[in-house]
Amino acid sequence: MERANIVVIGGGIVGLAIAAKVSESNGGVIVLEKNTKIGQEVSSHNSGVIHSGVHYPNGSLKARLSVSGNRMLYEICEKNGITHKRLGKLTVAIGEKEITEIERLKQQGEENGVEGLSILDGKEVRKMEPNVVVDQALYSPSSGIVEPDDLLNYFHAKAAANGASISLDTSVMELKKGKSSYEVRGMSGGTRFSFEAGSVINSAGLYSDRVASMVGLDVDRLGYRLHYCKGDYFRVYGNPPVKRLVYPVPRGPGLGIHLTPDASGSVKLGPNAYYVKDIDYRVSSTVEEFRKEATRYVPTLVNRQIQEDSSGIRPKLQGPDDPFRDFIIRDETDRGFPGFINLIGIESPGLTASPAIAQYVSELHSSTVE
Ligand SMILES: Cc1cc2nc3c(=O)[nH]c(=O)nc-3n(C[C@H](O)[C@H](O)[C@H](O)COP(=O)(O)OP(=O)(O)OC[C@H]3O[C@@H](n4cnc5c(N)ncnc54)[C@H](O)[C@@H]3O)c2cc1C
Repeated sequence: MERANIVVIGGGIVGLAIAAKVSESNGGVIVLEKNTKIGQEVSSHNSGVIHSGVHYPNGSLKARLSVSGNRMLYEICEKNGITHKRLGKLTVAIGEKEITEIERLKQQGEENGVEGLSILDGKEVRKMEPNVVVDQALYSPSSGIVEPDDLLNYFHAKAAANGASISLDTSVMELKKGKSSYEVRGMSGGTRFSFEAGSVINSAGLYSDRVASMVGLDVDRLGYRLHYCKGDYFRVYGNPPVKRLVYPVPRGPGLGIHLTPDASGSVKLGPNAYYVKDIDYRVSSTVEEFRKEATRYVPTLVNRQIQEDSSGIRPKLQGPDDPFRDFIIRDETDRGFPGFINLIGIESPGLTASPAIAQYVSELHSSTVE
Protein backbone atom coordinates (compact mmCIF):
# COMPACT_ATOMS: atom_id res chain seq x y z
CA MET A 1 0.00 0.00 0.00
CA GLU A 2 1.25 3.51 -0.83
CA ARG A 3 1.99 5.81 2.08
CA ALA A 4 1.57 9.57 2.60
CA ASN A 5 2.92 11.49 5.54
CA ILE A 6 0.06 14.02 5.91
CA VAL A 7 -3.28 13.87 4.08
CA VAL A 8 -5.34 17.05 3.96
CA ILE A 9 -8.97 16.35 3.04
CA GLY A 10 -10.38 19.38 1.20
CA GLY A 11 -8.90 21.72 -1.39
CA GLY A 12 -10.67 24.89 -0.26
CA ILE A 13 -8.89 27.97 0.99
CA VAL A 14 -8.33 26.51 4.47
CA GLY A 15 -7.11 23.08 3.31
CA LEU A 16 -4.74 24.69 0.81
CA ALA A 17 -3.44 27.22 3.35
CA ILE A 18 -2.75 24.29 5.71
CA ALA A 19 -1.03 22.29 2.96
CA ALA A 20 1.12 25.31 2.06
CA LYS A 21 2.16 25.69 5.72
CA VAL A 22 2.74 22.07 6.77
CA SER A 23 4.68 21.33 3.57
CA GLU A 24 7.29 23.93 4.62
CA SER A 25 8.64 21.43 7.15
CA ASN A 26 7.16 18.06 6.06
CA GLY A 27 7.49 15.92 2.96
CA GLY A 28 4.74 13.61 1.68
CA VAL A 29 1.83 16.07 1.98
CA ILE A 30 -1.20 15.24 -0.18
CA VAL A 31 -4.39 17.28 -0.58
CA LEU A 32 -7.44 15.27 -1.66
CA GLU A 33 -10.25 17.29 -3.26
CA LYS A 34 -13.44 15.70 -4.54
CA ASN A 35 -14.19 18.37 -7.17
CA THR A 36 -12.31 18.77 -10.44
CA LYS A 37 -11.14 22.27 -9.45
CA ILE A 38 -9.91 23.78 -6.18
CA GLY A 39 -12.14 26.04 -4.06
CA GLN A 40 -15.50 25.38 -5.70
CA GLU A 41 -17.53 25.31 -2.46
CA VAL A 42 -17.56 27.70 0.53
CA SER A 43 -14.31 29.34 -0.62
CA SER A 44 -15.87 30.67 -3.82
CA HIS A 45 -19.28 31.59 -2.40
CA ASN A 46 -18.49 34.33 0.10
CA SER A 47 -18.15 38.10 0.53
CA GLY A 48 -14.35 38.24 0.26
CA VAL A 49 -14.18 40.53 3.30
CA ILE A 50 -11.03 40.74 5.40
CA HIS A 51 -12.62 41.02 8.83
CA SER A 52 -11.06 42.99 11.64
CA GLY A 53 -12.19 40.65 14.46
CA VAL A 54 -14.69 42.85 16.35
CA HIS A 55 -17.60 40.42 16.10
CA TYR A 56 -16.33 37.44 18.09
CA PRO A 57 -16.20 36.87 21.86
CA ASN A 58 -12.88 37.57 23.52
CA GLY A 59 -10.64 34.51 23.75
CA SER A 60 -12.53 32.53 21.08
CA LEU A 61 -10.62 30.97 18.19
CA LYS A 62 -12.72 33.11 15.84
CA ALA A 63 -11.49 36.27 17.58
CA ARG A 64 -7.85 35.22 17.91
CA LEU A 65 -7.46 33.77 14.44
CA SER A 66 -9.30 36.59 12.64
CA VAL A 67 -7.24 39.30 14.34
CA SER A 68 -3.94 37.56 13.54
CA GLY A 69 -5.25 36.34 10.15
CA ASN A 70 -6.15 39.92 9.21
CA ARG A 71 -2.54 41.06 9.69
CA MET A 72 -1.06 37.98 8.02
CA LEU A 73 -3.42 38.27 5.06
CA TYR A 74 -2.55 41.91 4.28
CA GLU A 75 1.13 41.01 4.42
CA ILE A 76 0.63 38.02 2.06
CA CYS A 77 -1.45 40.15 -0.33
CA GLU A 78 1.06 43.02 -0.38
CA LYS A 79 4.08 40.73 -0.89
CA ASN A 80 2.49 38.59 -3.58
CA GLY A 81 0.43 41.04 -5.63
CA ILE A 82 -2.91 39.51 -4.56
CA THR A 83 -5.87 41.77 -5.39
CA HIS A 84 -7.07 43.39 -2.16
CA LYS A 85 -8.12 46.77 -0.75
CA ARG A 86 -8.00 48.09 2.80
CA LEU A 87 -11.36 49.85 2.44
CA GLY A 88 -12.36 50.29 6.09
CA LYS A 89 -15.77 49.39 7.46
CA LEU A 90 -18.67 51.25 9.05
CA THR A 91 -21.00 49.28 11.33
CA VAL A 92 -23.97 51.61 11.47
CA ALA A 93 -26.37 52.33 14.32
CA ILE A 94 -29.85 53.84 14.26
CA GLY A 95 -31.44 54.48 17.65
CA GLU A 96 -30.27 53.96 21.24
CA LYS A 97 -30.30 50.16 21.21
CA GLU A 98 -28.00 49.93 18.19
CA ILE A 99 -25.72 52.67 19.56
CA THR A 100 -25.26 50.60 22.73
CA GLU A 101 -24.46 47.60 20.54
CA ILE A 102 -21.74 49.37 18.50
CA GLU A 103 -20.19 50.60 21.77
CA ARG A 104 -20.16 46.99 22.98
CA LEU A 105 -18.60 45.86 19.68
CA LYS A 106 -15.91 48.54 19.99
CA GLN A 107 -14.99 47.35 23.48
CA GLN A 108 -15.02 43.70 22.40
CA GLY A 109 -12.90 44.54 19.35
CA GLU A 110 -10.34 46.39 21.49
CA GLU A 111 -10.18 43.47 23.92
CA ASN A 112 -9.57 41.21 20.91
CA GLY A 113 -6.64 43.40 19.82
CA VAL A 114 -8.27 45.22 16.88
CA GLU A 115 -6.54 48.55 16.32
CA GLY A 116 -7.85 51.96 15.30
CA LEU A 117 -11.55 51.52 16.19
CA SER A 118 -13.57 54.71 16.66
CA ILE A 119 -17.19 55.77 17.00
CA LEU A 120 -18.29 58.42 14.48
CA ASP A 121 -21.41 60.59 14.66
CA GLY A 122 -23.91 60.84 11.81
CA LYS A 123 -22.23 63.94 10.30
CA GLU A 124 -18.79 62.34 10.25
CA VAL A 125 -20.29 59.25 8.62
CA ARG A 126 -21.94 61.36 5.89
CA LYS A 127 -18.62 63.08 5.18
CA MET A 128 -17.08 59.67 4.51
CA GLU A 129 -20.13 58.13 2.84
CA PRO A 130 -22.68 60.74 1.66
CA ASN A 131 -25.39 58.11 1.02
CA VAL A 132 -25.27 56.58 4.51
CA VAL A 133 -27.81 58.20 6.86
CA VAL A 134 -27.46 56.92 10.43
CA ASP A 135 -27.05 58.19 14.01
CA GLN A 136 -23.58 56.76 14.64
CA ALA A 137 -21.16 54.17 13.29
CA LEU A 138 -18.26 52.07 14.48
CA TYR A 139 -15.35 52.67 12.09
CA SER A 140 -12.89 49.88 11.66
CA PRO A 141 -9.96 50.90 9.40
CA SER A 142 -8.39 47.42 9.22
CA SER A 143 -11.37 45.80 7.43
CA GLY A 144 -10.99 45.29 3.70
CA ILE A 145 -11.57 43.00 0.75
CA VAL A 146 -9.55 40.33 -1.01
CA GLU A 147 -10.15 38.45 -4.24
CA PRO A 148 -10.76 34.88 -2.92
CA ASP A 149 -9.71 33.20 -6.21
CA ASP A 150 -6.32 34.95 -6.14
CA LEU A 151 -5.77 33.82 -2.56
CA LEU A 152 -6.76 30.23 -3.39
CA ASN A 153 -4.32 30.20 -6.32
CA TYR A 154 -1.58 31.63 -4.10
CA PHE A 155 -1.95 28.89 -1.43
CA HIS A 156 -2.25 26.24 -4.15
CA ALA A 157 0.96 27.39 -5.87
CA LYS A 158 2.80 27.68 -2.54
CA ALA A 159 1.80 24.15 -1.48
CA ALA A 160 2.86 22.75 -4.88
CA ALA A 161 6.18 24.66 -4.79
CA ASN A 162 6.88 23.11 -1.35
CA GLY A 163 6.38 19.65 -2.87
CA ALA A 164 2.79 18.92 -1.76
CA SER A 165 0.63 17.14 -4.30
CA ILE A 166 -2.96 18.19 -4.92
CA SER A 167 -5.17 15.42 -6.18
CA LEU A 168 -8.41 16.66 -7.78
CA ASP A 169 -11.50 14.58 -8.57
CA THR A 170 -10.54 12.51 -5.53
CA SER A 171 -13.22 11.77 -3.01
CA VAL A 172 -12.46 10.30 0.41
CA MET A 173 -15.13 7.74 1.28
CA GLU A 174 -13.66 5.66 4.11
CA LEU A 175 -11.13 6.24 6.88
CA LYS A 176 -9.88 3.41 9.02
CA LYS A 177 -7.56 3.74 11.98
CA GLY A 178 -4.63 1.30 11.90
CA LYS A 179 -1.92 0.70 14.51
CA SER A 180 0.07 3.86 13.80
CA SER A 181 -1.58 5.27 10.70
CA TYR A 182 -4.88 5.69 8.85
CA GLU A 183 -6.13 3.86 5.81
CA VAL A 184 -7.69 6.35 3.39
CA ARG A 185 -10.00 4.95 0.74
CA GLY A 186 -12.12 6.48 -1.98
CA MET A 187 -12.49 7.17 -5.70
CA SER A 188 -10.09 9.16 -7.85
CA GLY A 189 -10.99 9.91 -11.47
CA GLY A 190 -13.46 7.01 -11.43
CA THR A 191 -10.94 4.51 -10.00
CA ARG A 192 -10.80 3.17 -6.44
CA PHE A 193 -7.75 4.11 -4.38
CA SER A 194 -6.43 3.17 -0.98
CA PHE A 195 -3.31 4.36 0.84
CA GLU A 196 -1.86 4.78 4.27
CA ALA A 197 -1.44 8.18 5.95
CA GLY A 198 0.54 9.07 9.06
CA SER A 199 -1.71 12.04 9.85
CA VAL A 200 -5.08 13.20 8.55
CA ILE A 201 -6.28 16.80 8.54
CA ASN A 202 -10.03 17.06 7.97
CA SER A 203 -10.69 20.40 6.26
CA ALA A 204 -13.73 19.26 4.30
CA GLY A 205 -15.90 22.37 4.80
CA LEU A 206 -19.61 21.54 4.48
CA TYR A 207 -18.77 17.82 4.75
CA SER A 208 -16.32 17.95 7.63
CA ASP A 209 -18.79 16.39 10.11
CA ARG A 210 -19.29 13.45 7.73
CA VAL A 211 -15.53 13.01 7.35
CA ALA A 212 -15.12 13.06 11.16
CA SER A 213 -17.75 10.35 11.46
CA MET A 214 -15.95 8.19 8.83
CA VAL A 215 -13.09 7.60 11.27
CA GLY A 216 -15.53 6.60 14.03
CA LEU A 217 -16.09 9.83 15.98
CA ASP A 218 -19.64 10.25 17.29
CA VAL A 219 -20.37 13.67 15.79
CA ASP A 220 -23.72 14.12 17.56
CA ARG A 221 -22.35 13.34 21.00
CA LEU A 222 -19.33 15.60 20.41
CA GLY A 223 -21.38 18.51 19.06
CA TYR A 224 -19.72 18.30 15.63
CA ARG A 225 -22.96 18.11 13.57
CA LEU A 226 -23.15 20.90 11.00
CA HIS A 227 -26.18 23.00 10.07
CA TYR A 228 -26.30 24.59 6.63
CA CYS A 229 -27.07 28.29 6.77
CA LYS A 230 -27.55 29.90 3.38
CA GLY A 231 -26.98 33.52 2.37
CA ASP A 232 -28.14 35.15 -0.87
CA TYR A 233 -26.53 38.17 -2.56
CA PHE A 234 -27.96 40.89 -4.79
CA ARG A 235 -26.02 43.52 -6.77
CA VAL A 236 -26.58 47.26 -7.09
CA TYR A 237 -26.25 48.34 -10.71
CA GLY A 238 -24.67 51.61 -11.87
CA ASN A 239 -22.72 54.04 -9.67
CA PRO A 240 -21.50 52.47 -6.42
CA PRO A 241 -23.59 53.89 -3.54
CA VAL A 242 -20.66 53.47 -1.08
CA LYS A 243 -16.86 53.17 -1.23
CA ARG A 244 -16.40 51.36 2.07
CA LEU A 245 -17.88 48.26 3.68
CA VAL A 246 -21.15 49.23 5.35
CA TYR A 247 -22.70 46.78 7.82
CA PRO A 248 -25.75 46.99 10.06
CA VAL A 249 -25.56 45.88 13.68
CA PRO A 250 -25.62 42.04 13.52
CA ARG A 251 -28.95 40.31 14.11
CA GLY A 252 -29.66 36.56 13.89
CA PRO A 253 -27.18 33.96 12.66
CA GLY A 254 -25.41 36.19 10.08
CA LEU A 255 -23.81 39.64 10.18
CA GLY A 256 -26.86 41.28 8.56
CA ILE A 257 -27.40 42.40 4.94
CA HIS A 258 -24.41 44.61 4.27
CA LEU A 259 -22.91 46.55 1.36
CA THR A 260 -19.64 45.15 0.04
CA PRO A 261 -17.76 46.88 -2.77
CA ASP A 262 -15.69 44.39 -4.79
CA ALA A 263 -12.27 45.09 -6.30
CA SER A 264 -13.89 46.83 -9.31
CA GLY A 265 -15.99 49.04 -6.97
CA SER A 266 -19.30 47.35 -7.87
CA VAL A 267 -21.43 46.86 -4.74
CA LYS A 268 -22.99 43.60 -3.56
CA LEU A 269 -25.79 43.45 -0.98
CA GLY A 270 -25.97 40.53 1.41
CA PRO A 271 -25.73 37.85 2.48
CA ASN A 272 -28.86 37.23 4.52
CA ALA A 273 -28.99 34.06 6.64
CA TYR A 274 -31.50 31.21 6.66
CA TYR A 275 -31.10 27.53 7.50
CA VAL A 276 -31.51 24.95 4.70
CA LYS A 277 -31.40 21.15 4.53
CA ASP A 278 -29.64 20.75 1.17
CA ILE A 279 -26.77 22.31 -0.72
CA ASP A 280 -28.49 24.28 -3.48
CA TYR A 281 -27.02 27.59 -4.68
CA ARG A 282 -30.18 28.97 -6.35
CA VAL A 283 -31.12 32.37 -4.90
CA SER A 284 -34.51 32.18 -3.22
CA SER A 285 -34.78 35.56 -1.44
CA THR A 286 -36.58 38.54 -2.94
CA VAL A 287 -35.18 41.88 -4.01
CA GLU A 288 -37.83 43.60 -1.81
CA GLU A 289 -36.38 41.97 1.34
CA PHE A 290 -32.89 43.24 0.47
CA ARG A 291 -34.03 46.71 -0.59
CA LYS A 292 -36.06 47.15 2.61
CA GLU A 293 -33.14 46.23 4.87
CA ALA A 294 -30.49 48.25 3.01
CA THR A 295 -32.62 51.43 2.57
CA ARG A 296 -32.79 51.62 6.36
CA TYR A 297 -29.26 53.03 6.30
CA VAL A 298 -28.74 53.89 2.58
CA PRO A 299 -32.07 55.55 1.66
CA THR A 300 -31.02 56.30 -1.96
CA LEU A 301 -31.22 52.56 -2.70
CA VAL A 302 -35.01 52.97 -2.84
CA ASN A 303 -34.99 53.60 -6.58
CA ARG A 304 -31.77 51.90 -7.66
CA GLN A 305 -31.65 48.85 -9.89
CA ILE A 306 -30.88 45.81 -7.70
CA GLN A 307 -30.54 42.36 -9.21
CA GLU A 308 -30.12 38.79 -8.01
CA ASP A 309 -26.45 37.78 -7.86
CA SER A 310 -25.35 34.57 -6.13
CA SER A 311 -25.46 32.66 -2.84
CA GLY A 312 -23.26 30.82 -0.36
CA ILE A 313 -23.80 28.17 2.31
CA ARG A 314 -22.21 28.43 5.76
CA PRO A 315 -21.06 25.25 7.53
CA LYS A 316 -22.43 26.29 10.93
CA LEU A 317 -22.18 24.50 14.26
CA GLN A 318 -24.73 26.93 15.67
CA GLY A 319 -28.24 25.71 14.87
CA PRO A 320 -31.33 27.96 14.73
CA ASP A 321 -31.72 29.80 18.08
CA ASP A 322 -28.46 28.35 19.48
CA PRO A 323 -25.90 30.60 21.19
CA PHE A 324 -22.49 31.43 19.68
CA ARG A 325 -20.37 28.47 18.59
CA ASP A 326 -16.65 28.73 17.99
CA PHE A 327 -14.57 27.03 15.27
CA ILE A 328 -13.61 23.46 16.21
CA ILE A 329 -9.92 22.95 15.40
CA ARG A 330 -8.88 19.93 17.38
CA ASP A 331 -6.29 17.22 17.54
CA GLU A 332 -8.18 14.01 18.42
CA THR A 333 -5.29 12.11 20.05
CA ASP A 334 -7.04 12.06 23.46
CA ARG A 335 -10.07 10.38 21.88
CA GLY A 336 -7.91 7.57 20.51
CA PHE A 337 -7.15 9.14 17.10
CA PRO A 338 -3.51 10.29 17.18
CA GLY A 339 -2.52 12.56 14.31
CA PHE A 340 -6.14 13.21 13.33
CA ILE A 341 -7.00 16.92 13.27
CA ASN A 342 -10.59 18.07 12.72
CA LEU A 343 -11.61 21.50 11.45
CA ILE A 344 -15.38 21.82 11.78
CA GLY A 345 -17.67 24.82 11.50
CA ILE A 346 -15.16 26.91 9.54
CA GLU A 347 -17.65 29.55 8.50
CA SER A 348 -16.89 33.30 8.51
CA PRO A 349 -14.24 34.58 9.35
CA GLY A 350 -12.52 31.48 7.86
CA LEU A 351 -11.24 33.29 4.77
CA THR A 352 -9.69 36.09 6.86
CA ALA A 353 -8.33 33.60 9.36
CA SER A 354 -6.97 31.12 6.77
CA PRO A 355 -3.23 31.87 7.21
CA ALA A 356 -3.61 31.95 11.01
CA ILE A 357 -5.61 28.69 11.00
CA ALA A 358 -2.82 27.13 8.91
CA GLN A 359 -0.21 28.26 11.44
CA TYR A 360 -2.35 26.95 14.35
CA VAL A 361 -2.89 23.56 12.69
CA SER A 362 0.78 23.25 11.81
CA GLU A 363 1.68 23.83 15.50
CA LEU A 364 -0.97 21.29 16.62
CA HIS A 365 0.46 18.78 14.17
CA SER A 366 4.07 19.24 15.24
CA SER A 367 3.15 18.94 18.92
CA THR A 368 1.43 15.57 18.28
CA VAL A 369 4.05 13.98 16.08
CA GLU A 370 7.03 15.05 18.22
C1 LIG B 1 -22.15 33.42 2.49
C2 LIG B 1 -20.76 33.38 3.06
C3 LIG B 1 -20.03 34.56 3.22
C4 LIG B 1 -18.77 34.53 3.78
N1 LIG B 1 -18.05 35.69 3.85
C5 LIG B 1 -16.83 35.67 4.41
C6 LIG B 1 -16.06 36.88 4.47
O1 LIG B 1 -16.48 37.91 3.97
N2 LIG B 1 -14.88 36.84 5.10
C7 LIG B 1 -14.37 35.70 5.67
O2 LIG B 1 -13.32 35.76 6.28
N3 LIG B 1 -15.05 34.52 5.56
C8 LIG B 1 -16.24 34.49 4.92
N4 LIG B 1 -16.93 33.33 4.79
C9 LIG B 1 -16.32 32.09 5.29
C10 LIG B 1 -15.27 31.52 4.34
O3 LIG B 1 -15.71 31.56 3.01
C11 LIG B 1 -14.98 30.07 4.77
O4 LIG B 1 -14.63 30.06 6.14
C12 LIG B 1 -13.85 29.41 3.99
O5 LIG B 1 -14.02 29.59 2.60
C13 LIG B 1 -13.85 27.93 4.33
O6 LIG B 1 -12.90 27.29 3.55
P1 LIG B 1 -12.74 25.72 3.64
O7 LIG B 1 -11.52 25.38 2.87
O8 LIG B 1 -12.84 25.30 5.07
O9 LIG B 1 -14.06 25.14 2.96
P2 LIG B 1 -14.38 24.82 1.42
O10 LIG B 1 -13.95 25.91 0.54
O11 LIG B 1 -15.79 24.39 1.34
O12 LIG B 1 -13.42 23.60 1.13
C14 LIG B 1 -13.68 22.30 1.58
C15 LIG B 1 -13.37 21.36 0.45
O13 LIG B 1 -13.45 20.02 0.90
C16 LIG B 1 -13.86 19.22 -0.19
N5 LIG B 1 -14.37 17.96 0.32
C17 LIG B 1 -15.45 17.77 1.13
N6 LIG B 1 -15.61 16.47 1.41
C18 LIG B 1 -14.61 15.79 0.77
C19 LIG B 1 -14.26 14.43 0.66
N7 LIG B 1 -14.96 13.47 1.28
N8 LIG B 1 -13.19 14.10 -0.10
C20 LIG B 1 -12.46 15.05 -0.73
N9 LIG B 1 -12.77 16.38 -0.67
C21 LIG B 1 -13.82 16.75 0.09
C22 LIG B 1 -14.94 20.08 -0.84
O14 LIG B 1 -15.17 19.70 -2.18
C23 LIG B 1 -14.36 21.48 -0.70
O15 LIG B 1 -13.69 21.92 -1.85
C24 LIG B 1 -18.19 33.30 4.21
C25 LIG B 1 -18.91 32.11 4.02
C26 LIG B 1 -20.17 32.14 3.43
C27 LIG B 1 -20.91 30.87 3.19
